[in-house]
Amino acid sequence: MERAEVVIVGGGIIGASIAYHLAMRGIKDIVLLEKELFFGAESTGKCAGGIRAQFTTPINIQLSLASIAAFERFAEEMGAPVAFHQVGYLFMSTDPAQWEAAQRAVQLQRSLGVEVQLLTAEQVNDLVPDLRTDDVVGATYSAKDGLADPHEFLQGYVKRNRELGVRAFAQRPVTGLEVKGGRIQGVVTPAGTISTPRVVNAAGAWAAQIARMAGVDVPIVPVRRHIATTAPLPFISTTYPMMVDNGSGLYMHPESGGLLMGMAKRDEPPAYRTDVDEDFVMEIVGAAVDRIPSLETAEINSAWAGLYEVTPDHHAIFEAHTEPEGLFTCAGFSGHGFMQSPAAGETMAELILDARTTLDISDLGLARFSTTNHQGREEVMVI
Ligand SMILES: Cc1cc2nc3c(=O)[nH]c(=O)nc-3n(C[C@H](O)[C@H](O)[C@H](O)COP(=O)(O)OP(=O)(O)OC[C@H]3O[C@@H](n4cnc5c(N)ncnc54)[C@H](O)[C@@H]3O)c2cc1C
Repeated sequence: MERAEVVIVGGGIIGASIAYHLAMRGIKDIVLLEKELFFGAESTGKCAGGIRAQFTTPINIQLSLASIAAFERFAEEMGAPVAFHQVGYLFMSTDPAQWEAAQRAVQLQRSLGVEVQLLTAEQVNDLVPDLRTDDVVGATYSAKDGLADPHEFLQGYVKRNRELGVRAFAQRPVTGLEVKGGRIQGVVTPAGTISTPRVVNAAGAWAAQIARMAGVDVPIVPVRRHIATTAPLPFISTTYPMMVDNGSGLYMHPESGGLLMGMAKRDEPPAYRTDVDEDFVMEIVGAAVDRIPSLETAEINSAWAGLYEVTPDHHAIFEAHTEPEGLFTCAGFSGHGFMQSPAAGETMAELILDARTTLDISDLGLARFSTTNHQGREEVMVI
């Protein structure tokens, strides 16, 4: 029978990063399984590529800060042709309450070492002249935030993982987990069962399905999110930051000479659906034209939808399960998984191999969802 020291379920950026960090720690016998035709076929491949440390809770800020440092050294460390464009993230507040909350978040961010500036509407226009700012009460900007192509970074991990001996298979879905005597024993696939004492659930929006195979509930639901892009536009500079309207939740960034736009549909129910709602795409475009009036004549050249993997408090789940032993979960990044993937992989490798972690992830276990613990903490950023 096939054997592995660790089997990772899910060939997105989280699974790939965990495999890399385990391999770098000396684990020789790692198998990574992806159900789709290629790695990154799901959320990772649909992602907008935004990377930021401007969050509202300490752990999200710390995961992002550690990841930004890793993105900065990624090309050299991995020998991969990747680019991390540190063009910054600009969050615009359009009412006093939002602005007050944004300034409170900045205090927390600065206390943890994030370099973030407060900008007036005029300063926003110095940065991006095309933005309509007559209703902007204030904005926050961190120049170290930025953009990257998730495919490039995923391929960086995939290539390096192969060099390190990770056996990674696409088109090999996990259909069951074998548990005996309260311990993980193996992973079932149509191509045969792999005997293993450890399984890492990095199945993103499908993580609840994988957990259920071992009789475990993890509160992660799939929620459809849309993106649209324009054809090239002469007035969009490649140095423009990621621009976020805190009011509508619209975000926009330069993409292939044009603009990428995304926004959350407020009443989108959880479901495994990624068909494009054309009416909603027009709502995104309308919100974008409202913020950048010169977009009125822009041609929309593509639109797609992918799944956010959403937990009740919009924080990821890092868990070393005790029932069954040998099962680990690293999923539920709630739309922040690309930007937090380097630190997530490193932290997960520590949790698996050392049973303790450099970053304090004690708040990110499943216990927080018990009625006594799950109180008062939610990531409030709108995107
Ligand atoms: C429209 C959109 C925009 C986004 N923008 C950003 C952004 O700007 N910045 C950011 O950081 N994040 C963003 N995200 C979120 C980000 O894409 C995710 O948080 C991240 O990709 C999660 O990575 P993952 O590896 O957990 O999930 P995935 O990439 O979905 O990987 C999980 C994999 O598990 C596989 N799988 C599932 N079931 C099985 C099974 N039974 N057997 C084998 N394999 C299985 C799936 O096929 C999938 O490939 C965005 C997401 C969307 C949809």
